[in-house]
Amino acid sequence: MQINMIKTWILCICIFTLTPQQGLADEQPTHSKRIVTNPISLHSFQHSGLYNEAEIQSGKIAYLTFDDGPNKYTKQILHILQTKQAKGTFFLVGSNIQKHSQIVQEIVSEGHYIGLHSMTHDAKILYNGNANNLLHEMREVQNLVARTAHVDTNLIRVPYGSMPYLKQHYRDDIVLSNYKLWDWTIDTYDWRDKNRPNTIINRVKQQATKPVEVILMHDLHITVAILPTIIDVLQEKGYKLVTYHPAHHIQVNFWKDHRL
Ligand SMILES: [Zn+2]
Repeated sequence: MQINMIKTWILCICIFTLTPQQGLADEQPTHSKRIVTNPISLHSFQHSGLYNEAEIQSGKIAYLTFDDGPNKYTKQILHILQTKQAKGTFFLVGSNIQKHSQIVQEIVSEGHYIGLHSMTHDAKILYNGNANNLLHEMREVQNLVARTAHVDTNLIRVPYGSMPYLKQHYRDDIVLSNYKLWDWTIDTYDWRDKNRPNTIINRVKQQATKPVEVILMHDLHITVAILPTIIDVLQEKGYKLVTYHPAHHIQVNFWKDHRL
């Protein structure tokens, strides 16, 4: 009798767990936990595969991150990463995903991770007093990535970084919505120094000193030009260039908010 009850319970739990959630982001409350876009089946990102667990735990790690793509430079960035045996993490903007869906799929198939970087990239819209617009846009990008590349991702990077915009109540809502957030440890200023490649390279050379670095770059012409050298510099310093993976999430945000 008791065993039957337990079986019934397990069955109920399974049915409950497996029931797909209906509807897309628009219909969901702000703090909904997960989006599952029917009828797409989502799979996890593969592990970088370049290094084993022990090497990642013991060695110096650098995460190359590329914001605002995909665009016409992303394919060249992917090619360089492949040639140099390095992995990256791409924080995509929704409107660009629609224009370059093939590249989004290539990012995933080549073993890199996709993060979410909003739809509009507009500070006035995203930071208008509460987290609703921000979370709504992140969910929209999340849905687009799911539809385009059949992967589920919950890592966000907010446009212009989390400081000073993401006050406590923003961060509370991000936590409740089950997103993780990454800023960076080294800003290359590739967009600003687009005519000074050596300035960017030297900046990375000087600043890459910690056991783990998260390096902010953008999908730009200058970035394509300097990326091979940046990778050489980091590898000569003993860094392994891996992609983000949720299983190895570490806290990288300017507020030092351990929940993110
Ligand atoms: Zn950006």
